[in-house]
Amino acid sequence: MAMDRTFRIKVRMRRFRRRHPKVAFAIRSFMIFSATFGGAYGFVTGSRAPNSGYDPNAFAIGASFLFALACLGLATLSMRLRFVARRMRKLSAHNEALIDRNWELKEAEERARSLFESQGDLIVLRDHQGRITFANDAYCALAGQARSALVGTRFDFDVLEQGDSAREASGTRIHDQKIATPVGARWVAWREGLVRHDAGQPAELQSVGRDVTDRTETERALSDARDQADAANRAKSRFLAMASHEIRTPLNGIIGMGGLLLDTNLTPEQTTYARAVKTSGEALMALIEELLDYSKIEAGKLDLEQRPFALSTLIEEVTELLAPRAQAKRLEIAAYVDERLPLEVVGDAARLRQVLLNLAGNAIKFTASGGVALIVEPGIWPNEISFLVRDTGIGIAPEAQSRIFREFEQADDRVARTYGGTGLGLAISERIVKRMGGRITLTSEPGKGSTFEVAIPLGFSQGDAGRTAFPSPDLSGKSVLLVADGIEASLIARRLERWGGQTCLVADAAVAEALLPERSWHAVLIDRALGAAIADRVGEAARAHATQRLVLLTPSSRHEKLSPDFTGFLVKPLRAASLAARLALTPEVASPDLAPEPFETAPVRAPAGGLSILVAEDNEINALLMRSLLTKLGHRVVIAVHGEAALESWLAASSAGTPYDLVLMDIQMPQLDGIEATKRIRAHEAASGGQHTPILALTANTLVEDRYACFEAGMNGFLIKPLDREKLDEALAALAAARQLAV
Ligand code: ADP
Repeated sequence: MAMDRTFRIKVRMRRFRRRHPKVAFAIRSFMIFSATFGGAYGFVTGSRAPNSGYDPNAFAIGASFLFALACLGLATLSMRLRFVARRMRKLSAHNEALIDRNWELKEAEERARSLFESQGDLIVLRDHQGRITFANDAYCALAGQARSALVGTRFDFDVLEQGDSAREASGTRIHDQKIATPVGARWVAWREGLVRHDAGQPAELQSVGRDVTDRTETERALSDARDQADAANRAKSRFLAMASHEIRTPLNGIIGMGGLLLDTNLTPEQTTYARAVKTSGEALMALIEELLDYSKIEAGKLDLEQRPFALSTLIEEVTELLAPRAQAKRLEIAAYVDERLPLEVVGDAARLRQVLLNLAGNAIKFTASGGVALIVEPGIWPNEISFLVRDTGIGIAPEAQSRIFREFEQADDRVARTYGGTGLGLAISERIVKRMGGRITLTSEPGKGSTFEVAIPLGFSQGDAGRTAFPSPDLSGKSVLLVADGIEASLIARRLERWGGQTCLVADAAVAEALLPERSWHAVLIDRALGAAIADRVGEAARAHATQRLVLLTPSSRHEKLSPDFTGFLVKPLRAASLAARLALTPEVASPDLAPEPFETAPVRAPAGGLSILVAEDNEINALLMRSLLTKLGHRVVIAVHGEAALESWLAASSAGTPYDLVLMDIQMPQLDGIEATKRIRAHEAASGGQHTPILALTANTLVEDRYACFEAGMNGFLIKPLDREKLDEALAALAAARQLAV
């Protein structure tokens, strides 16, 4: 503080000296004069006085003291002078540095300004009244005016189109504008924000614009091109759907007629030819279906359902569907669903079935001996389920492993020729799995086999906790002997162990016979695939040692006569529920007569005299096919060639008191189509309060929308072409059963 004050006083005095040098000079002169005069006067009067008592000695002392004082003053002055000179040098060096810096700053400012001005982007600054205070070269060029003409004006471009505007966190506003300029319309992307140049001055609006005309136009062109491509793609799928429908109709005739031909008396040679016609037709149909599926997925038309379904049912259905194909090749097929998994999961069961059928179908196709296993386990992520399809087939070479997932790719052309196929199956499966948010991976060793793994996230169904599909038997402390070999045997053993049983798996009958007396067995399971005689022998040997003696059969061998030593049988591939039920049974209750399994129900036969059926079908060959098939099944058939005729025939029959039992309605017909005809029939029924005639759609179209349309029109169901006797028989039997129940 004190330093501050003295410094301030000094500064003030210095300033005074600078401002009033004359007054300062006068004051200084006056002070020097008074000091000198005072000193001299004092000395002279002092030495002249009579009573001064002049002592030369004291005088000399005084004079030398004064001299010393003067020297000291001179020395101090010279030191200060040197100090000041040094400060002066420092100051001048500092001054030079400042001058340099000033130059640099000026240069930098100049550079910044030229950069600003020559920027490709448009830069304009406006004051708070909207007047331009600065515009760079680009802005001036686009405006077509000199800078001097723009600055100070409120010039702005005419806006032709305003895009969306957004604001950044910093307050900068971003927006696109299409503006009119002397060189034509341009798209400019603006960034605008307030900037403050001088404290105390109001802020200015700085707008920086980038000409994005090219980019915007490219974007628009791209989006147009994408729309066009989308439209083309949609047209392609529509075309594919239509073409495949058109192909399916005559193909339907070929397959159907081939079937009918096979039912007639033919020479063996003719049978071979007719069978070839039918098989080729079916292969072509499968191909068309795959193509249609592929195009549907390509067009993004794959809508996934989210519905709860039972995991084990799905897997068992897949295994059972493929079992005949596997067993015809003497291959095993077996499935295992891990008990840790929930019973019900939420997802698209139909699409998952399609993927698994394809993978397991391939596994059977490319396996000559051994078998195929379908194993379902929890995946590596929560909610993820892993489906493994394992085979002991020809395997896939490492270099082909990624290629086969591409469309129309097969691992080995030579091999493919032997096995057939299009190379579309895996491409479709992968796409479906990806759409489900999952992945499909492959591990394979040529000659040893392949394992395809599908891992997909599936939601767990609510309200499922603690519920089990079937009561699992408690086998703890019980021993089960499994005399079997192969994939299914190990899966059965795994399941029995899960239920707590002590399982002993032996593949050799002799070993089994030796083991039997070792302990008392709760059950002995013997696979008849080891040989009928061997199985019977083990069965007999087991009589004394096991309460339950079960034999494992294939569907083809289930009608063969079984030894009475067995207490029951199970059909391969085994269902977990059937196995559980069998093992839980006490042998007394177990039917000794080997009753057929509950899931196999005999088809309900049509009532005597058959049904009276109206078939609306415009295609002559298909109509002929329907007539032959239905007549053979013992029904009476009337054909109508279009919707109008069908409606008339239905009305006539109803008013005559002999209404039809069933109407089979083709969807696509000239004049009145199937949907419209059905709507009119339903309207008549509603008006007259008459009986409800079941109507089934006949369609070659498998699109979901078409199915909805059928149900909306009031149809009871649909039959997908191509029809064969089994399908038709099944549908009619279901109808007959429903009628019997209703009566
Ligand atoms: P497709 O079976 O109709 O030829 P896919 O796309 O289903 O078409 O299969 C492509 C190819 O992948 C097959 O041709 C075959 O070479 C190979 N492949 C698929 N699955 C297996 C498998 N389990 N074992 C050996 N090769 C297989």
